[in-house]
Amino acid sequence: MDLQFTPQQQEFRAEVRAWLEANQPTHAFQPYYTERGLAEHLEWERRLFAAGYAAPGWPKEAGGLGLDLWAQLIWDEEYARLRLPERLNKMGLIHGGPTVLVHGTEQQKREWIPGILDCSDIWCQGFSEPDAGSDLAALRTTARIEGDELVLNGQKTWTSYGVVATRMFALVRTDPEARKHRGISFVVLDLDTPGVEVRPMRQLHGHSGFAEVFFTDARIPLANLVGDLDDGWRVAQTSLRLERGTGRGQHTRLTQTFRALAEEVGRRDADPGALERLGSLSAWTFAHEQATYALTDTIARGADDGVDSSILKVRWSEIQTAIHEEHLTVLGPDAELLHEPDPSGALPPLLRNYWHGRAGEIFAGSTEIQKNIISERGLGLPREPRA
Ligand SMILES: Cc1cc2nc3c(=O)[nH]c(=O)nc-3n(C[C@H](O)[C@H](O)[C@H](O)COP(=O)(O)OP(=O)(O)OC[C@H]3O[C@@H](n4cnc5c(N)ncnc54)[C@H](O)[C@@H]3O)c2cc1C
Repeated sequence: MDLQFTPQQQEFRAEVRAWLEANQPTHAFQPYYTERGLAEHLEWERRLFAAGYAAPGWPKEAGGLGLDLWAQLIWDEEYARLRLPERLNKMGLIHGGPTVLVHGTEQQKREWIPGILDCSDIWCQGFSEPDAGSDLAALRTTARIEGDELVLNGQKTWTSYGVVATRMFALVRTDPEARKHRGISFVVLDLDTPGVEVRPMRQLHGHSGFAEVFFTDARIPLANLVGDLDDGWRVAQTSLRLERGTGRGQHTRLTQTFRALAEEVGRRDADPGALERLGSLSAWTFAHEQATYALTDTIARGADDGVDSSILKVRWSEIQTAIHEEHLTVLGPDAELLHEPDPSGALPPLLRNYWHGRAGEIFAGSTEIQKNIISERGLGLPREPRA
């Protein structure tokens, strides 16, 4: 699509670019799960907050700038273009907070929203369990009502940011008799609640920001229910929809990943096969950017049926993996070299990005699940057999 930004949009881009360039961190941060890294990320988050840029896409009355989808895309592009740090509180900013803004009470908004914006509370998402990932409705963490409290028992896993988070939004089973999507509730809880145990998990690429979270008779106020009792599946749909969307600057990061490969190929004596593969990757990367703009337009017109986000997510993760694999091939054994000592013990950056990229085929709904959505909802093919 031939994209022409309006003069106001260009003005907004110039304003955002000027601020980010003037205020950007002067060095690369340590990982957020190290003491120094956490302090660096918090300092950056507070600088964004002080400038009113903590949550540009949120409504003004909630502390955002009330940007429309295109302005949000411009913001995300500028942020990604400068390779600025991943947002520490992205679970609160992208999923948890907006879900509370839609379904929460005024009291819940007053209590929880400010801490997300100034990062005095870091949020995490407690949906997945050891036997409930793609089949999320199979979750088994229970919450039983006792007086004006809910008593939680069970386990969550793959909790991103779990090791630094202070608050979790979670799905729990409040009616053990009900089947599947019924009888589930959406709750918010403080992670320092007695009976909640956070255990860090180290990943293949060396990062240890993930956690497993265990609940043993953990008591939280009944007032922490978001939406109605047993109606959490509907509330969770808001959160899950936000997780896919247009990718929050992924197209810009993909272009940068491709450019790094192109530069590497340019530095070496590339064979014709490598050049041909580079050409294909270039076309795919460009197509992904255009598809992101097309989806933004579709969502802005209110015409989104959720299928295009699935297509975009599948293609983004596949193209990213293909670029990383080609980069590793071009570098050969050099890819293993660690150029700078990394106190977190992580792999060299390219290998780390490659492995993290592989996770892109799993989180926010795996590739197979997205393909089911595309075939059933988009192409009208028969539904897969379900028990
Ligand atoms: C980097 C990362 C961050 C994450 N962060 C969080 C987080 O913060 N909070 C949270 O709650 N969860 C998080 N997750 C968990 C994530 O949501 C799950 O891993 C994902 O939903 C897949 O579930 P699973 O791992 O249980 O795999 P499974 O659901 O067991 O799937 C295993 C394999 O079977 C395939 N499969 C499953 N069902 C079908 C089907 N019906 N048809 C065809 N194939 C199928 C899947 O595609 C996959 O290949 C994260 C995961 C990753 C990798």
